[in-house]
Amino acid sequence: MIKFQDLKLINSRYDAEFKEAYKRFLNSGCYILGDEVGTFETAFANYCSTKYCIGTGNGLDALVLIFNAYKVLGKLKGGDEVIVPANTYIASILSVIHAGLKPVLVEPDESTFNISPIEIKKAITKKTKAILAVHLYGQLADMQAINSIAKANNLLVVEDAAQAHGAVANFNIQIPNSKAVKKESATNQSVLKAGNLSDAAGFSFYPSKNLGALGDGGAVTTNDDELAEIIGKLRNYGTSSKYVNDVIGYNSRLDELQATFLNIKLPMLDLDNAKRISIAKYYSESIKNSKIKLPKVACNLSHVFHQFVIRVTNRDDFQAYLKSNQVETLIHYPIPPHKQKALLPYKSLNLPITEAIHNTVISIPISPVMPQTEIEKIVELINAY
Ligand SMILES: *Cc1c(COP(=O)(O)O)cnc(C)c1O
Repeated sequence: MIKFQDLKLINSRYDAEFKEAYKRFLNSGCYILGDEVGTFETAFANYCSTKYCIGTGNGLDALVLIFNAYKVLGKLKGGDEVIVPANTYIASILSVIHAGLKPVLVEPDESTFNISPIEIKKAITKKTKAILAVHLYGQLADMQAINSIAKANNLLVVEDAAQAHGAVANFNIQIPNSKAVKKESATNQSVLKAGNLSDAAGFSFYPSKNLGALGDGGAVTTNDDELAEIIGKLRNYGTSSKYVNDVIGYNSRLDELQATFLNIKLPMLDLDNAKRISIAKYYSESIKNSKIKLPKVACNLSHVFHQFVIRVTNRDDFQAYLKSNQVETLIHYPIPPHKQKALLPYKSLNLPITEAIHNTVISIPISPVMPQTEIEKIVELINAY
């Protein structure tokens, strides 16, 4: 069976380092907000070219804390409208609701699956105060257009970067060439990367993400001094110094052990992304079947292929065919958020593009540890379908 993603194999590459690091962790006696979290925050801020990174308990909380910090700062208030893509993973929308704000669901561009700037413009009202841009499946949303709409309408822009660690905007290097990527990003301090394309970004380190921990984890990146300070407090009971509470806080800290693992994995992220990009390139060049619609890449390197999502009309049949040939696939996502029981008040929204996407997408395996033989077998099977 070709697994959709072999997390054990992905992490077994670090087996010796993880065991060594765990011993250090055990002996440190410091298990919450210790040196490993601090080290990771500095490293990930450097990686994203942002001034700050604040570790959080998970990706959902990273986004919730951003919105709540803006409320503390008086830049958002309860009931303000936040524009979000309708075809995202439900967490994006939940973050807005948990912060007491109102999500306004907007259709994507059908070719990139990312939120449509034209539709954003149509959805703006007097109550609109922010846009939550999601880099879906690993491809950057059209941040140039989104930021200019935001500027013209005095809106905040937040990125949901949970699927796009390391995606680079307008970066003029041919793929796949991981060495060139690394060299450039090390020398160019103002690299425009996921996490550095808006006012603040939320990341998730859920195990299956491009940078995944061995449990839950998340982070906020931002260049905003005030926001970073508030989020640093909010994630830890609103604490400014021990037992001094400045704001109504939460408990959502990046776990020290998860930070230990992330510190070991972060240096491999660009190489892993390059591997994903090269598999995607191979799929795109080799899959030739009129029944299959391939994903559109808007710009080199702006897509780090968290998922390789294709479209097929007769999806159930196609998925069963691959399964009977020992290939596991997943659907991201089978039910659109507005059709979920949890979001009942949104169920009669008219979102035909979103619904068509949810009815026809299917994700085929893509992972930095896939052997070439598996990649070739998948192409052969799809071409024979
Ligand atoms: C994974 C994910 C999240 C949530 O991250 P968690 O760490 O699971 O809370 C949010 N948004 C998107 C788009 C995601 O893929």
